Amino acid sequence: MRRIRAAVAETPGAPFTVRDLDLGEPRPDEVLVRMTAAGICHTDLGMRDTWPGRLTPMVFGHEGAGRVEAVGAEVRGVAPGDRVCLTFASCGACEQCATGHPAYCLHARTLNFSGGRADGTTPLSRDGTPVHGGFFGQSSFATHAVVRERGVVPVPADLPNEVAAPLGCSGQTGAGTVLNRLRPEPGASLVVTGAGGVGLSAVMAAVAGCDPVVAVDPVPARRALAVELGAKAALPPGDGLVAALRDLTGGGAHHVVETTGRPEVARQAVAALRPRGELALLGLGGEVTFDVMPLLAKGVRVHGVIEGDSHPGRFLPDLVGLWRRGLFPLETLVTTFPFEEIGSAVRAMEEGGVVKPVLLFD
Ligand SMILES: [Zn+2]
Ligand SMILES: [Zn+2]
Repeated sequence: MRRIRAAVAETPGAPFTVRDLDLGEPRPDEVLVRMTAAGICHTDLGMRDTWPGRLTPMVFGHEGAGRVEAVGAEVRGVAPGDRVCLTFASCGACEQCATGHPAYCLHARTLNFSGGRADGTTPLSRDGTPVHGGFFGQSSFATHAVVRERGVVPVPADLPNEVAAPLGCSGQTGAGTVLNRLRPEPGASLVVTGAGGVGLSAVMAAVAGCDPVVAVDPVPARRALAVELGAKAALPPGDGLVAALRDLTGGGAHHVVETTGRPEVARQAVAALRPRGELALLGLGGEVTFDVMPLLAKGVRVHGVIEGDSHPGRFLPDLVGLWRRGLFPLETLVTTFPFEEIGSAVRAMEEGGVVKPVLLFD
């Protein structure tokens, strides 16, 4: 047992409050990670607000990066001292995991969103009372986390902490949607709606092969960033949007990556596609209604994508390789905050001025 600091949501929707907790030792298949950085994702806020009360108090956070401090007896892939990126949990044995699609693991819900381990325990406690964790298998809004070996991917020592952290969720979600799922033909057109951490990661992954890449976002600074990252144009949402997108893409886009989760944006995305175009839906949202006619008349293909359909053990090293060649400059999206200032980091993200807040630990 060790004393740690963690940002706790005491009840659903409550602010993250940094407090002392106790963390148990890693089990044989687990790894103890000392956090160096943790990104904040909209999913942390959205799920905190809708989280069941019976699973609180709860520690969120799912974009951790750190250093391995101790490993269980059965762990072979990492050793104390290794730098790692934390990512979502998967079982490694089911049909989806076995075929290289762990984001669709049949046990994903239990392993990522049950408030602890699959057996109902949690390594976190306070004064002997369990505190829920295991968010995306990690709960990385904490100085330390105990995670299963499959949830850590070794990264090189020279990868900056603030790059390693968002790699494991928003980075691989945006980039993986383009590179693993859509796999655009060279020169295909690609539109990204929503220029946040996920959307801009998709832009970075797309600009190497697609032409044009166009971003859509209401915030001028985010549009400017999209252009800086290689988008040919960046447009605000609004009345003339669909016509402008069709114009820029020579009659409609081959691909649209929709990250906002807003029904009206998803409908505009369909309208902006060319015949047999592909729509990838990434944004966590409610229900979207579509007029079926344009979908079938245009032969639109719709993808639901989570975590970029990536196999983190293989894909994250690929992304590190792109970063090293200057082709995936994730640091351009990041603003860092000290861990204890998580409240300011959340506010900055909600206000829209900060794309990807990353908490740094001493
Ligand atoms: Zn599985
Ligand atoms: Zn995320």
